Amino acid sequence: MQLANVDGRAAVVWGSDPAAASVHDLGTDAIDAIERLDEVRSIAASLEVPPPSDLRARLGPPVPRPRQVFAIGLNYGAHAAETGREPPAIPATFTKFPSALTGPFATVALPSAHVDWEVELVVVVGREAHGVAEADGWAHVAGFTVGQDLSERRVQQAAGAQFSLGKSYAGFAPTGPWMVTLDALADPADLALGCALDGEVLQNSRTSDLIFDVPRLVAELSAVVTLWPGDLIFTGTPAGVGAARTPPRFLQPGQTLVSTIEGIGIIETTFT
Ligand code: ZN
Repeated sequence: MQLANVDGRAAVVWGSDPAAASVHDLGTDAIDAIERLDEVRSIAASLEVPPPSDLRARLGPPVPRPRQVFAIGLNYGAHAAETGREPPAIPATFTKFPSALTGPFATVALPSAHVDWEVELVVVVGREAHGVAEADGWAHVAGFTVGQDLSERRVQQAAGAQFSLGKSYAGFAPTGPWMVTLDALADPADLALGCALDGEVLQNSRTSDLIFDVPRLVAELSAVVTLWPGDLIFTGTPAGVGAARTPPRFLQPGQTLVSTIEGIGIIETTFT
């Protein structure tokens, strides 16, 4: 099942193309729909699929107001290597403040000439989680969405390191086009992901290369904090970021970044 934010309300969506998808308004918000996911699933199964329409301008972030947004650094070996760092022994965790969230077809104003791309699988927490064993991690996940962990590299590295601020300018967390529930994915632990800038492929990897996989992240995070339905976890980016290139490359006004995850869809971010 695909759960979207259409016109600011939770909706079930059918189809793989946001330009021609069917939608059923659930008359509630994303977190409520996620808390009642089994009920929503049975409602969706009983519906006649409505005729498709173009949803691109109507889609917002699948979870527009999560209580918490976690993000993980250096969670792919090849990305840790390109930054010249050792892979960490525990997940390197920071937050993207929820005010940075935007939808799947957003225009984002670049605050400087040092903004970088990071395509990421984003976990949507399905059930309250505290002290969850790794073996039970999947049971606390509602589904996945596509995310970009946009990063202002100078702020990120300033004052020692302040990842959370450098990655939280307005629009720095585009997500979408919808949340796909785990049962709709052939293998939730192995999905192709990548991004392309004006058609040039910049990142291309698989989520099976995650150092700390999804159940492990749920276990590690919930060992410290309580996770709530609708919370997001940006799971880390694979190799190919701009700052690690020679010479470094960053996003420029007028460019369009397309981020893709197999079985979920694409998000398209345009920069001014
Ligand atoms: Zn990241």
